[in-house]
Amino acid sequence: MEKIGIYGGTFNPPHTGHIQGAAYALEKLGLTRLLMVPDYLAPHKEIPAGSATPEQRLSMLRLACKDKPGLEVCDLEMRRQGRSYTYETVVQLREAYRDAELTLLMGTDMFLSFDSWRKPESILQNAALAVMYRGDKGEREAIEAQKAKLEAMGGKIYVLKNPVVAISSSDLRRLIAFGCAGEFLDEAVADFIREHGLYGADANWKNLPMPELEKVVVPLMKEKRVAHILGCCQTAVELARLYGADETDAARAGLLHDITKALDGPLQLTLCRAYGTILDDFSRKNPKTLHALTGSLVAERVFGENEAVVSAIRYHTTGRANMTLLEKIIYVADYVEPNRDFPGVEKLRKAAYENIDQALKLGLESTLALLKEQGREVSPESGEALRYLLEHGV
Ligand code: FE
Ligand code: FE
Repeated sequence: MEKIGIYGGTFNPPHTGHIQGAAYALEKLGLTRLLMVPDYLAPHKEIPAGSATPEQRLSMLRLACKDKPGLEVCDLEMRRQGRSYTYETVVQLREAYRDAELTLLMGTDMFLSFDSWRKPESILQNAALAVMYRGDKGEREAIEAQKAKLEAMGGKIYVLKNPVVAISSSDLRRLIAFGCAGEFLDEAVADFIREHGLYGADANWKNLPMPELEKVVVPLMKEKRVAHILGCCQTAVELARLYGADETDAARAGLLHDITKALDGPLQLTLCRAYGTILDDFSRKNPKTLHALTGSLVAERVFGENEAVVSAIRYHTTGRANMTLLEKIIYVADYVEPNRDFPGVEKLRKAAYENIDQALKLGLESTLALLKEQGREVSPESGEALRYLLEHGV
């Protein structure tokens, strides 16, 4: 009997994680072929503005699957148009392949929410499900519970541990915008993205005026962080006016300071590799602290910022000895911008507008105290920053 897998997704864009996952499923499930099915419009997702068109996603998927034995791009949902409901696809494929065993692949989140899909019982009647899980804490128990539930409904369920390092498409789009996605993209797909100027690839974002810069930066942030960067930008401008620093530099550094913060530790290291940056011991051991460094690299190379802005971003989490006025302003603005709420924020906020060095010292002290309390390592720069202030009578 032919065993056919169904791998649906938005593929915006298709990347090596998709292909590696597909190869793994082909092998583990013993599939004769795996149909890659790009959706036209996902049921519950909106496509981010400025994304590839459905036709472009289809073309990229064809490039990514070219010369990969067993992988076949299926344009069923594209031809159907409208919202792409899986049950319709499964029913259509069942009609096309009457005698085959069909297996629908999905990730953990999709599997656990399977009940809320449209017509789940119709899907279970026509296809087995294969969930590819990553092995996060508690994930396996949740999967087993859901498996039992769906089996009671007559479903056939395969559980596969997916060893592939997954990258989300939203993180990948960030890496493309930063010019660092090479290791996750098929070369032909990367060429297509560049040729069509998708996802900000090869865009000229150097020295954009403020309103345009904001329009580029906001979509690269996680939604929950947008208010923070806008608040930081506003506070930085106020402090620059008060202490006589360049207000434009302050605004740009405030807006850009967390530009790479959405990326996790391993992707921070990817950025450093792509930019050819050699890391010190502390950074290698604490890759999550790297967003200040990688943010400064992106500010310089992608946005063409000047040295003052770049160094303000570089030292916004750690500080350093003998900081420039702008570095102090961004460090403090990041700490006290209007969305910040922690015990002691009022005292720090007051100090920010009275004596920037005092505010800086308070900020450094409370960061160091917090790290100590959490048993985490303190970056050498923070220690030096505080020592410098103490030696200079602050
Ligand atoms: Fe930050
Ligand atoms: Fe921040």
